[in-house]
Amino acid sequence: MANSFYREIINDHNLRPSHKRPLPDADLELRGVNPSCGDDITLRLKTADGIITDGAYTGDGCAISQASADIMLDLIIGKDVATARHLYELFSRMITGTITDEELDELEEAGALIDVSHMPARVKCAVLGWRTMNMLLDDVRG
Ligand code: ZN
Repeated sequence: MANSFYREIINDHNLRPSHKRPLPDADLELRGVNPSCGDDITLRLKTADGIITDGAYTGDGCAISQASADIMLDLIIGKDVATARHLYELFSRMITGTITDEELDELEEAGALIDVSHMPARVKCAVLGWRTMNMLLDDVRG
């Protein structure tokens, strides 16, 4: 991570996550594993009328995987399913290096992970939470 401001955002979410906790009354739950790094998270979401009303994760992994999941939950809680899927698509394109500046603004703090697009070994870490979220939303009627 060349940019120290971005690095600070990632460190902060890793060390002081807002959403790393159990969520016993979640209606959606899915485990996501990235064997190449050892990242192993379980993502839980609550939804009502197509809105993600709450979310949390548990598990372990590298700073990038943990921070990315925490930042993602900041972004998607309170949003509808279509918006969350849109943000997933933007995040995926950011990581593969095909995103515009306007789209990057939509990702807010998740933009701090843009340097991962130059770190192929870390891509699976960064997308783990997001990919898991997108798979979970397959079970929600929008
Ligand atoms: Zn990792």
